[in-house]
Amino acid sequence: LARRPLPPRGSTVLEARGLTRRFGGLVANNDINLALHAGEILAVIGPNGAGKSTLFNQLSCCDMPSAGEVRFHGRSVAGWSARQIAAAGLARTFQHVKLLPRMSVLENVALGAHLRVRPGLARSMLRLDRLEEARLLAEARHQLERVGLGAHAHVEAGNLSLGQQRLLEIARALCADPSVLLLDEPAAGLRHAEKQALAALLGRLREEGMAVLLVEHDMDFVMGLVDRVVVVVFGEKIVEGLPAAVQSDPRVLEAYLGACA
Ligand code: ADP
Ligand code: MG
Repeated sequence: LARRPLPPRGSTVLEARGLTRRFGGLVANNDINLALHAGEILAVIGPNGAGKSTLFNQLSCCDMPSAGEVRFHGRSVAGWSARQIAAAGLARTFQHVKLLPRMSVLENVALGAHLRVRPGLARSMLRLDRLEEARLLAEARHQLERVGLGAHAHVEAGNLSLGQQRLLEIARALCADPSVLLLDEPAAGLRHAEKQALAALLGRLREEGMAVLLVEHDMDFVMGLVDRVVVVVFGEKIVEGLPAAVQSDPRVLEAYLGACA
């Protein structure tokens, strides 16, 4: 399949400007600014209820801001659907793994790729011609190799470990040939070795020039991997910086300890 050229390393691919989201009287995101660059991994961290998922949903056009805007490759995406921004090169995974457990790993990835390409699964599956089917399967196989699941292509997806299922989801996201990857708590529930495999994969994608934004509350996973951290507390961005600096910032410690007290 033809590849989209990745933007130059360091260029801004995704931006939040004054992003605000109100739910009735609750301000879930308040005037948030952030930028994500090609070839970097950015983590958004914060206690439960801080507004991370709300932010994530707006960045992926799954929700609309009350004020402010999201810019993707320098263009406002106001009014875009999730499908439109996905087609333009922004792929996301969800906090809870979504797959068809009785189908093979390869079929799950190919199906995901297909669903991304066009809506109306049942109808379009019937019309899928041989050539297109072969193309999707080849793409799926390529992405499975890329995430290190090549040897498991023909296993039932339900038999994979949680860590492998997360990798499957990333393979499915990669089928859309994204320049930006948004991951919602990718390390949640993973064993140590699985976290290492995930971190290695994200490191490789960064090397290739992909921009990765992840929402995470596993501090250890974030600290060893990402380039920059944005901390969100009560809907506000309170700190942004290098992992080590953020980790020892008194405002961050207070937010986390305060949240547990
Ligand atoms: P996080 O992902 O950091 O745990 P969320 O973004 O899910 O936080 O939630 C932030 C706040 O916004 C919470 O108080 C939550 O209850 C509220 N919230 C999120 N989505 C909605 C919604 N669709 N309707 C009303 N309130 C919401
Ligand atoms: Mg959340």
